[in-house]
Amino acid sequence: MRNKTIEKKYQTALNDLINYLKNSRFLNDKNVEDAFRNIPRHEFVPESELDYAYNNEPLLIKNKQTISQPGVVSRMTEWLDVREGQKILEIGTGSGWQTAILSYLVGEGTVYSVERYSELVKFAQENLKKLNIDNVHVILGDDSVGFAKESPYDRIIITAACTEIPLPLIEQLKEGGLILAPVGDSSQSLVLLQKTFKGIIEIKNESHYVFVPLRGKFGKK
Ligand code: SAM
Repeated sequence: MRNKTIEKKYQTALNDLINYLKNSRFLNDKNVEDAFRNIPRHEFVPESELDYAYNNEPLLIKNKQTISQPGVVSRMTEWLDVREGQKILEIGTGSGWQTAILSYLVGEGTVYSVERYSELVKFAQENLKKLNIDNVHVILGDDSVGFAKESPYDRIIITAACTEIPLPLIEQLKEGGLILAPVGDSSQSLVLLQKTFKGIIEIKNESHYVFVPLRGKFGKK
């Protein structure tokens, strides 16, 4: 159902959101715009939040977690420079909306997404199923971090705030691959790193973001 026509009542709100993101330079890439148009955010929010689905704000989903703000998802997706056929690891599935956007961009590739709350694993799986998305595996996280079994990955994205990028995730990244995460305490910087044969290099860094915390052994207690 990739080409599912977005319900008419949401079309104007989506167009307004896209125009806003383009004008504020949070959406610049045509492929990412296509992904936003083909992966309707209203399919990923609880019924109580439907009226706000196309506002540029995070919304509560379950377990006190949030579906990310559209401007943050467009920024992160663009920085990740996703290509068709790639294998991607996401830490923090939440509603599955960012996951679905990645799945659209990889085409025949695959997205592995790890979530620590079983209720959210189920919520995301149901949302992805509504759109007939079949190139995503949602995995219930344990105390390790990532999903070493399917590594190495072309891209890794962490969608929760971490104090530093967990080393096991760097190990699960391909040489030449990119890893993106919000790093910091009460306020975070988006940090994009590349793994090269010479070591890890920082590609981009932008401050003033706020995410829910990464939990578990490699996150906040
Ligand atoms: N991008 C998602 C979306 O659009 O719906 C929202 C992600 S939400 C901001 C961050 C998610 O990370 C939450 O669902 C949270 O439960 C999850 N999380 C936190 N710590 C985690 C961990 N150690 N492993 C896996 N998921 C984790």
